[in-house]
Amino acid sequence: MSNIKFLDLQKINAQHAAELKKVAAEVIDSGWFLMGERVATFEKNLAQFNNSKHVIGVANGLDALRLILKAYIDLGVMAEGDEVIVPANTYIASLLAISDNRLQPVLVEPNEKSFNLDIDLIEKHITPRTKAIMIVHLYGQVCWNEKLVAIAKKHHLKIIEDNAQAIGAEWNGIKTGNLGDAAGFSFYPGKNLGALGDSGAVSTNDDVLASQIRALGNYGSKQKYVNEYQGLNSRLDEIQAAFLDVKLRYIDAENQYRRTVAARYLLEINNPLIQLPFPVSAQFSVSENKEHVWHLFVIRCKQREKLQNYLAEHGIQTLIHYPIPPNKQLAYKELNTFDYPLTNTIHEEVVSLPISPVMTHEEVTRVIEALNLFSL
Ligand SMILES: *Cc1c(COP(=O)(O)O)cnc(C)c1O
Repeated sequence: MSNIKFLDLQKINAQHAAELKKVAAEVIDSGWFLMGERVATFEKNLAQFNNSKHVIGVANGLDALRLILKAYIDLGVMAEGDEVIVPANTYIASLLAISDNRLQPVLVEPNEKSFNLDIDLIEKHITPRTKAIMIVHLYGQVCWNEKLVAIAKKHHLKIIEDNAQAIGAEWNGIKTGNLGDAAGFSFYPGKNLGALGDSGAVSTNDDVLASQIRALGNYGSKQKYVNEYQGLNSRLDEIQAAFLDVKLRYIDAENQYRRTVAARYLLEINNPLIQLPFPVSAQFSVSENKEHVWHLFVIRCKQREKLQNYLAEHGIQTLIHYPIPPNKQLAYKELNTFDYPLTNTIHEEVVSLPISPVMTHEEVTRVIEALNLFSL
């Protein structure tokens, strides 16, 4: 029996190999590798996909978030030492974007059912220095509601979306990345829309912010050799833009396929030792619920190590997202003394099952059967 990889990137890209090779050859032959037509076309197409006014290609997802905050600082919206609310159980990049700008991450516990930032806990963490809420659509599920919008409005806070895991997800017909004031996308190869290397993007409907970010990602320059701001070099390559433009055409179909895998897992896995993710939006069936794009299918199990070893023996690869919460990392020593009990429990129990647009029906069946036979 062959092994089931957690994510078969080779197979994912093999689906589009002919088109990818064709556009790679075109870029090579063009002799133009940065700030050209390919990037402009992909930015336009992603903006159209998302219904956002502006998309700016950047070097990676972390830079997308860093540049949003840096631009807000340049524009006087926030200043060094100001606070940004962020979920305690996110991937560390969300925090790095904040602290790199000498802003203070303020960690808030997630909701146990959604794994997303608990919106009901936000207000008690707001101080006079709070300037923004960075929501993370974790594992591909939308983190949004009317209450969040009302809190942001009441306290004059920007809402920044970390949309690294949720491209294509929708809330009431609005795509993630077009819900808040600005959003960061990651096209890391393993993301739902993955490049063949690093890349990312910012989306926003704010003209001034967009223009500032575009300059900041290009040495702080709008015109070559004229530098208005102290910027970075964080640009999307022509070749990655060309690859992404090919793959963008398939993202809706691929996300939909992920939903059908998730629907089977939710329906067919029934083992009391395993806690399945909760479909938060109960008004839809799983395969029709656009609020989730299932970047990851994360279960909880108190005997996690045993479960992972058992699945590995059955040729099923799993991963943990994430094994160590940001507040327990050496990189954030100053946060080590804070206690986030739910975040800690989640980090001790979560396991991510294989899910992808290239998993076969038989592979999904094998994962389900193995999980249902797991015992202590
Ligand atoms: C992947 C990811 C990032 C960072 O994106 P990179 O392209 O790897 O820099 C940020 N936030 C979250 C939640 C992510 O999953």
